[in-house]
Amino acid sequence: MDFSSKLLENAVNEISQLPGIGKRTALRLALHLLRQPEENTSSLAEAITKLRSEIKFCKRCHNISDFELCEICKNPNRNPEVVCVVEDVRDVMAIENTSQFKGTYHVLGGKISPMDGIGPNDLTIHSLVEKVKSGTIKELIFALSSTMEGDTTNFYIFKQIEPFNVLTTTIARGIAVGDELEYADEVTLGRSIVNRIPFENSLKI
Ligand SMILES: [Zn+2]
Repeated sequence: MDFSSKLLENAVNEISQLPGIGKRTALRLALHLLRQPEENTSSLAEAITKLRSEIKFCKRCHNISDFELCEICKNPNRNPEVVCVVEDVRDVMAIENTSQFKGTYHVLGGKISPMDGIGPNDLTIHSLVEKVKSGTIKELIFALSSTMEGDTTNFYIFKQIEPFNVLTTTIARGIAVGDELEYADEVTLGRSIVNRIPFENSLKI
């Protein structure tokens, strides 16, 4: 692409770094921004800068939060003894949308995936095991997507916490294998949390 302006070229290069955005789309977005009032582009730039520099992770559940403790962990009506293990913040949002879950979460920050070079130490598994060890958790609900990576992660955590006396369950699978949680519809997902089953029953033999 030949640009008549170095500034335009820079903007297009930066925008095209985003996932799913090619050079053509980046150019269309850059030209769109150029037509906006300056305060709109300033507030967009500020939102992006603050997103990166000011956002925090809840020190208890690792959910994205503006404070030390997220709104869910802070809420006295949520049960800290029932903990739902999820991959990332999108899963928390999906489950919260169902209004069927009154426990709390533990956000792993991904799944074990040797292909992508993600091992147990890249996730927040250690802090989850520590919480289980400390005896503050009565039930752990696995709610990872039922992909091979999700199953591997569930099983790895299950083995780590097996010595400690904690009930382990998994969300019932009305959700097709391989589907990501965030795409499951609210009713199906809500039902699968209510009708959760003992984790041992979900292990394939
Ligand atoms: Zn939290």
